[in-house]
Amino acid sequence: MVPDSALQTFRSTLRGASFCPGEPGYDDARTIPNAMINRRPAVIARCAGAADVIACVRFAREHDVLVSIRGGGHSVAGKSVCEAGLMIDLSGMKGIRVDPARRTARAQAGLTLGEFDRETQAFGLATTLGTVSKTGISGLTLGAGWGHLHGVYGLALDNLIGVDVVTADGRLLTASASENQDLFWGVRGSGGNLGIVTSLEYRLHEVGSVWGGAVCHPTDKAKELLRFFREWSDRIPDELAIQCAALTLPGAGRVFAIAACYHGDLAQGEKVLQPLRSWGKPVADLFAPMPYVQMQSMFDPFFPPGRLTYVKSNFVQTLSDDAIETLAAFVGTSPSLHSFAPALEHWHGAATRVGVSDTAFPHRTNKFNFMAWSNWESPSDSEKNVLWTRDCWAAMKPFLIAGAYGNYVSDEGDAIAREAYGPNYDRLLTLKKKYDPTNLFRMNHNIKPSIQAPAAD
Ligand SMILES: Cc1cc2nc3c(=O)[nH]c(=O)nc-3n(C[C@H](O)[C@H](O)[C@H](O)COP(=O)(O)OP(=O)(O)OC[C@H]3O[C@@H](n4cnc5c(N)ncnc54)[C@H](O)[C@@H]3O)c2cc1C
Repeated sequence: MVPDSALQTFRSTLRGASFCPGEPGYDDARTIPNAMINRRPAVIARCAGAADVIACVRFAREHDVLVSIRGGGHSVAGKSVCEAGLMIDLSGMKGIRVDPARRTARAQAGLTLGEFDRETQAFGLATTLGTVSKTGISGLTLGAGWGHLHGVYGLALDNLIGVDVVTADGRLLTASASENQDLFWGVRGSGGNLGIVTSLEYRLHEVGSVWGGAVCHPTDKAKELLRFFREWSDRIPDELAIQCAALTLPGAGRVFAIAACYHGDLAQGEKVLQPLRSWGKPVADLFAPMPYVQMQSMFDPFFPPGRLTYVKSNFVQTLSDDAIETLAAFVGTSPSLHSFAPALEHWHGAATRVGVSDTAFPHRTNKFNFMAWSNWESPSDSEKNVLWTRDCWAAMKPFLIAGAYGNYVSDEGDAIAREAYGPNYDRLLTLKKKYDPTNLFRMNHNIKPSIQAPAAD
């Protein structure tokens, strides 16, 4: 219990707004896109800058308060909102400065992808981020960041030049290739375990119009289309990013779709997409050359805030005929028309040429990421949707590897941390003991500092 006088003093020192239960703005501030999450923090601090973040960390330590950190609030596990603790809300920190000459951008942690892309595209520049524009740059980047440019430029975290981080002792450190290198290694993949990142500096690249879109086929073609997807994925250039999913296309009903984005020479892009676009008889071909920001928001209508979401996901190394058979059997069977499930993302190119231990994010050698991503509208439908998601994942389990992309999993308890950090777990444990020995930052796929580190060789 924090004395009310201490709480009020803390709130009065903040430059940004703060919200307690019952106050105007409190319910909005605690609400995140996934309506499965309904937690009530004791106080929400909407930080205006690094000084507010430092004040939050010091307050939480002094009063032994549980903290959660909200970037864009899109963690499907709902890790950005805590029950009865201090929610450190970075969503008001939206500063960004693009340096077109150096091709870099320094961005505050509360920006969404769409906001970031808008500013960098003003200069014809971009970097790899995700594929839905409302997602926060910071949670996405600290966890990895797969997006349309990953084949050419790597994951979002591969484009980080440096970050400012408030560590558990309330200091603001810069982490980069030349300063606090161990922290820089660790923040690139450990999703907020080591501190609160207040700003991120990215490398940018020239990105103009892209070829983007999707072809949608009847669900009974899913098996053949998945075989095509597997074989085609072996041949595509780095410039092309592809994914496939069962979904509902307005006006066409349930379909199985392959979506793609080609960044590069547009005439060449048209040729590269030809095998996909000429395969079978699609019910819709949505491909066209388009501005990059249009591609970056193409999937937004499928993910409006306020739906309930549950996701299970693991990597797949080899997409065998049996795996395809299993996936196809689930296509079109989700109890909800809003689901993107089952789905596969293809990981290749620059993102897979980085060494497993070059950054804390270890999943560099897997070809596909399997997702059973369920969205639905009414809490009364939760049980059947969660069950279906688990059934789909369980059927796929023989073909999945233990590794999981932490950004895509619903809350599965601490075991998921091992799957998320894989061979880099022990090195991260050492860093956790150094930078957050009391586990102040534990609303994440948590590395517990109390775990015994392995004996040195
Ligand atoms: C609709 C949708 C589409 C998505 N599409 C993609 C995609 O295309 N590619 C992809 O790679 N991922 C994608 N994701 C997953 C996304 O990367 C994760 O959900 C990510 O966590 C979102 O970041 P956020 O800042 O919005 O989330 P938040 O919920 O705010 O944060 C996620 C986690 O990171 C921590 N965190 C956030 N900001 C900071 C910070 N500044 N410092 C320290 N810790 C912090 C939080 O405490 C929490 O544990 C998608 C998710 C959704 C819901």
